[in-house]
Amino acid sequence: MAAGAELGNGPGMTGVEAIGTGRVWRPYTQMATAPPPLRIARGEGASLYDEAGRRYIDAISSWWVTLHGHAQPRIAAAIARQARELEQVIFAACTHRPAEALAERLVALLPAGLTRVFYSDDGSTAVEVALKMALQYWANRGRPERQRLIALEHAYHGDTTAAMAVSAPSYFTAPFSPWLFPVARAHTAYCHRCPVGRRRESCHIECLGRLQELLAAHAAETAAVIVEPLLQGAGGMIVQPAEFLAGVRRLCDEFGVLLIADEVLTGFGRTGTMFACEQAGIAPDIICLSKGLTGGFLPMAATACREEIFAAFLSEDRRRTFFHGHSFTANPLGCAAALASLEVFEQEAVWERIAAIAAAHRRHLQALRSHPRVADVRQAGTVAAIELRDRDGAPDYLAEIGPRLTRFYLERGVLLRPLGNVVYVLPPYAIEPRDLEFVWQTIQDSLEAAA
Ligand code: PLP
Repeated sequence: MAAGAELGNGPGMTGVEAIGTGRVWRPYTQMATAPPPLRIARGEGASLYDEAGRRYIDAISSWWVTLHGHAQPRIAAAIARQARELEQVIFAACTHRPAEALAERLVALLPAGLTRVFYSDDGSTAVEVALKMALQYWANRGRPERQRLIALEHAYHGDTTAAMAVSAPSYFTAPFSPWLFPVARAHTAYCHRCPVGRRRESCHIECLGRLQELLAAHAAETAAVIVEPLLQGAGGMIVQPAEFLAGVRRLCDEFGVLLIADEVLTGFGRTGTMFACEQAGIAPDIICLSKGLTGGFLPMAATACREEIFAAFLSEDRRRTFFHGHSFTANPLGCAAALASLEVFEQEAVWERIAAIAAAHRRHLQALRSHPRVADVRQAGTVAAIELRDRDGAPDYLAEIGPRLTRFYLERGVLLRPLGNVVYVLPPYAIEPRDLEFVWQTIQDSLEAAA
């Protein structure tokens, strides 16, 4: 049977009734006109199976969370074991072995100097924690005027309020703009649409100039710079040269401002190294982790910081306390899943899988680079993106072509959700090589169909 021959035909194309979702309000769904959702019953590796048994290749790791694969047996078993021991306990006044063991493991893996781990629930809360930690760090050190934050163009850091404020203004944030605190915006290294009109082949990362200007003018009132290192996700899968990130670190050092790295997407091997920061040879002051942290099994996040930041909260003065704690902070099931996911890294050929995915991406992107429909191709390890020549402007999340392509892919049994005119592939590491080939063939076909 040819690769993908048993794949599903997509919703609405199979005779499956357009079953509503009852009382569930799904995110990112335009309620009136959205096609019916896939009704997924089961997952295994990179495959998802709907209630009728049709298979779909999950080429986007289910919103970038599924790390090794769906229903990964080692992680599933660890959660089951932990659930029989201790499912949840208040994390103020109590602690537990899985939380402590995970913090030890993370500190050993993280870029040097990140020594303390604060748990929360998801990527957005990891970012909220990082921002609050940075602001209160300065206040606790007697510098309460350091309240400004600097973030990048095209940034996406989550959907909670402070995370929206540091994200670039977009359709996602527009209805709430009066509520969002002002944030200074530095250029990102979006080489295909260079913000300062250079060409990558001959540039010296002049796009850093804007950050330098902002810091030169406002460092004394600035708490932190926040970036998605190496790869900006929801803003259009924009891949930055490592030199850009190294330059951001250099400027933060020069001006004495904290650097927050949001590795919610990039963490745990996605860009080819355990953390994206490694590729620039830098360590941030604060790092945000979630999504793949638990192997993608459970909602959980960690914000890790340098010892000096932690120390600023240690005091007999109780007002210096970091008063931030979610009900499920350090949930033992999440910790057990995360520990098991790290074990998978140790005991299975995960880095070989990552290298194989990256090599396949490279080959296919090279082949597509000169396609008349393709404006730019980008890659960071296991993440590949193609910016289509849909229009002259920057990537547009609401570009007409996005939903049309999504439908095309689902009809062929491939779950891909272009960000407007940016098609990207970000598979679980367990994806079978033949399935990855099928995903790329399907993308190639979609370009021909669109042409
Ligand atoms: N930060 C980054 C870089 C992300 O890509 C995301 C989600 O896509 C978030 C934060 C928010 O994570 P969550 O959706 O788990 O709140």
